[in-house]
This record gives sequence, structure tokens and C-alpha cells, in this order.
Amino acid sequence: MLCGVVGYPLGHSLSPLLHNWALQSLGAAGAYFSWPVEPKELTAFITAVRTLPIAGASVTIPHKEAVMPMLDAVSESASRIGAVNTLYWNKGKLFGENTDVAGFVAPLQGRDIESALILGAGGAARAVLAGLAGLGVNNVQLANRSASKAGQLAAEAQHVWGMTVQTACWEDRKECSPQLLVNTTPLGMRGERERETPWQAEWCCKGQIAYDLVYNPLQTQFLAEAESAGCETIDGLAMFVGQAAKQCELWTGKQMDQAVAHELLARELAGC
Ligand code: NAP
Repeated sequence: MLCGVVGYPLGHSLSPLLHNWALQSLGAAGAYFSWPVEPKELTAFITAVRTLPIAGASVTIPHKEAVMPMLDAVSESASRIGAVNTLYWNKGKLFGENTDVAGFVAPLQGRDIESALILGAGGAARAVLAGLAGLGVNNVQLANRSASKAGQLAAEAQHVWGMTVQTACWEDRKECSPQLLVNTTPLGMRGERERETPWQAEWCCKGQIAYDLVYNPLQTQFLAEAESAGCETIDGLAMFVGQAAKQCELWTGKQMDQAVAHELLARELAGC
């Protein structure tokens, strides 16, 4: 089985390590490669997928939207989000799916979430909204640095998922006291933003869950502060592993062990 990740630039992606480990541990003969493909080469890449024995691909920036019209079909969920992150074959047709939603929801299964605040209104926030809609969370707030983008996404959430989403001013976000806080901004990412956080310890309330989509570093400033304030935390690797597990299932029909996968990637990020 031949699979890989297509994007540009690809940088140091964790996907090859994770999927090659998964294929091996599931006893599926195959390999997963990195395919850096520039936007102007995407059509040729899709022709290659159709003509070579490629079982599937992860799709990342900047191709998640551009690839959609090149496929035979796109799932309803991916079509509502407006982005595809997975290609797979089904009955001879090349399908597009978005597994970010399944990835986001995976660590929240079994919890009764009543209210959530989403920090940020970009591509990842759309998958988070879709996930919260699927979980039936009906008290959702959205705060974004650019208020107009928050307003647009809230209007879209009403139209696409039938959700009423309240927007909060970025400057006043600390007035919100949701059960679940989700960081979908890049604040806290390794590099110059590492010491930044969209939420501070003194704004945390008892019983809150802090969920960061950033996974490098694993313990972000946001999660460290939330933990120090007594909140439960969920790191971004949980979503990353969850979305990859769903991809693996679409390609192999088998379930990867997500706890072991999380450990493998956490060790890699720690440089062990
Ligand atoms: P995006 O589309 O570029 O959106 C970024 C959002 O963050 C925008 O709403 C932007 O606000 C806001 N933002 C950027 N810089 C900011 C700052 N300095 N202060 C406050 N807000 C700021 O990015 P994305 O695709 O949604 O990805 C966002 C993050 O999620 C990235 O770190 C990505 O790695 C992570 N992610 C993780 C997973 C996972 O599996 N764990 C999956 C997807 C994404 P404006 O509208 O004002 O520009």
C-alpha cells in the first residue's frame, strides 16, 4: 500500500513517522511518503494518484480547498467545512474526506460538554465548530483578533450547521466562562510565539477544560497556565493522532492504537 502527505512546503511533518509506524504495527504492507507538491503541480499530482497504485493521501496546506473540484466525490462533512484533508478510494472513485473533525472530537468523547469558547476563527476553527455541532454543544462563543472574521464564521455556522454562535470581543474574552476553552490560534507555537497564550491562568474557572490545537511544543504556555489554575488539559497531539487514526482506518480498515501513537509522537517532539 502506497500513501503519503501532499502539501507545500511540507517542512518537518510528523505524519510519515506516525503512518509508517501504524502500517507496520497493523501488519499492513506499505509505506507512507512526503510529497511536496507546489500548487501549479496539484492537477498532475491527482493524475498520478489516479494512475499509480496510490491508496490514499493526507492533504495539507495549501491544497485543502483547491483539491476538492479534482475529486470524484467529497463527503458531506468536508463539503460543509469547505476543506479536504484526506484522499481515499471507495468503489473505484477518488473520495475526499475531512478527518480533522473526528480528530478534534476524539478526546472529548464520553464527556458532557455544555458550553465552549473558540479562540480564533481560521481553518481549524471551522473543524472545531463542526465537531461541537456534532457533539450537540449549543452554547458556543467565538472570539477572534479580527472581529469581522468571527462575525463571518458565526453567520456561516448558523447557515451550515444550524448553530447559534455568539461572538465575543477579543479584548473582552476573559469575561467568558465556558466549560471548554479551545485555542485554534497559533499563539504558543514553537519559535517566536512560544511564550504567548490566548488565555491567562487568572481568567480560568473551576472545572474548565483547556484544549490546545497547537502540539509543538506539547505543553504550550496556554496549557501550562491552565494546568497551574487547576484545569483539565488536552494537548494538540490528541487531535493530530485522532485525525490520522481516521485516515488510517479509511486506507486500511484497521484501527491504530491512539495511546501508543500519542506516546510515539510525544517522544519525537521531546527529541528522545
Ligand atoms: P489560520 O487559518 O491561519 O487561522 C489562524 C487564526 O489565529 C486566525 O483566526 C487569526 O486571527 C488567529 N491569530 C493569528 N495570529 C494571532 C495573534 N498573534 N493573536 C491572536 N490571534 C491570532 O490557521 P489554522 O489552519 O486555523 O491553524 C491554527 C492553529 O491550529 C495552528 O497552530 C495549527 O498548527 C493548529 N492546528 C492543529 C491541528 C491538530 O491536529 N492539532 C489541526 C489543524 C490546525 P485573524 O483572523 O485576526 O488573523
